[in-house]
Amino acid sequence: MTDVAAIFRDQYGQEPDGLWAAPGRVNLIGEHTDYNDGFVLPFALPERVVAAASRASSGWRVCSDLQDQPVAFSDAGSPGTVTGWAAYVAGIVWALAEAGHEVPPANFAITSDVPLGAGVSSSAALESAVLTALIDLGGLDIPVAERPALAQRAENRYVGAPTGIMDQSASIRCEAGRALFLDCRSQEVEQIPFDVAAEGLAVLVVNSNAPHQHVDGEYGARRKSCEEAARLLGVPALRDVSADDLDETLEKLDDDVMRRRVRHVVTEDQRVLDTVALLRSGRIREIGPLMTASHASMRDDFEITVAEVDVAVEAALMAGAYGARMTGGGFGGCILALIDADRADAVTTAVESAYERHGFTAPTPFVAVPSQGATRL
Ligand code: ADP
Ligand code: MG
Repeated sequence: MTDVAAIFRDQYGQEPDGLWAAPGRVNLIGEHTDYNDGFVLPFALPERVVAAASRASSGWRVCSDLQDQPVAFSDAGSPGTVTGWAAYVAGIVWALAEAGHEVPPANFAITSDVPLGAGVSSSAALESAVLTALIDLGGLDIPVAERPALAQRAENRYVGAPTGIMDQSASIRCEAGRALFLDCRSQEVEQIPFDVAAEGLAVLVVNSNAPHQHVDGEYGARRKSCEEAARLLGVPALRDVSADDLDETLEKLDDDVMRRRVRHVVTEDQRVLDTVALLRSGRIREIGPLMTASHASMRDDFEITVAEVDVAVEAALMAGAYGARMTGGGFGGCILALIDADRADAVTTAVESAYERHGFTAPTPFVAVPSQGATRL
């Protein structure tokens, strides 16, 4: 990655006060469960945003190696005041101020090797790096457990993207060699051992490179369907539907599509719990079938996959993956496959060949290593 301190010096003619980093993430299992008050299990990537920053006399200035133009604002104002990529930065300033904090004026230089819009949450990485830097620069007393909600508010309200709490929680709270078991209702977390390399395993991530289409509309429709189902079933959220008497519960719903949406969320929550139980006892390989079942549920019940991800998952399984599934909100994005570490090339080739046969744009594979969350470097 580029030397962010050098960029900072070029831009502002001084040394930064410090460097802060926050990673992208992938979700091991638990899709579309976050806004249903349920469970997710993401881990942080080594790919991260690094922010060089220092206190300034007034206002905020920010440049990024992924964007042409530096942006300056003297006041984050209200949502809509700063737009474009710098809204993620201004949104953090706004969310902190809204929560009653004295936000320090600051200059930022940003570098990143988190791919944008690839489903590994570059937006949360950017927000989390900026948030962590501002908290440290201002000496703000904000417990780590309260930080993801601040960053989420920046994204939901200031940027205007309706996302759950998972991405920011992962970017801020993950630890190396672990997956983050997050209860999206209480926001309690547990660090779950997930040292794949120590077991001779690897998580292969393949960006499907499928063109994202209808993502926002479909996301909104799924969310609405889940909320409507919870209302009809008389529960606060689908998290409160028990997996044990799911069949009985589903009989109370007339609409077949809604029944399948509910079945995905309820069984997916249970798969997260089952995955956590296996990982707690060190049985990493055995989570494979849960991953694959999760994919089938997203494909058949929640209907959020596309041909590219289905083909990639199928090819990975045929090439010997223990399990494979789409990760992220759907309609494209990445898949992940749990494989023997020495099979990464073979599985990659299998996915690439399948893509060629189908005439899809080539996928982008990489091996994901569970890494550290936001930190001062
Ligand atoms: P994802 O979070 O899946 O990568 P999003 O659309 O949510 O995709 O966020 C991507 C947007 O976040 C980019 O279009 C850009 O505005 C902003 N962004 C993320 N990382 C950076 C960065 N390093 N520098 C500038 N802008 C960034
Ligand atoms: Mg995002």
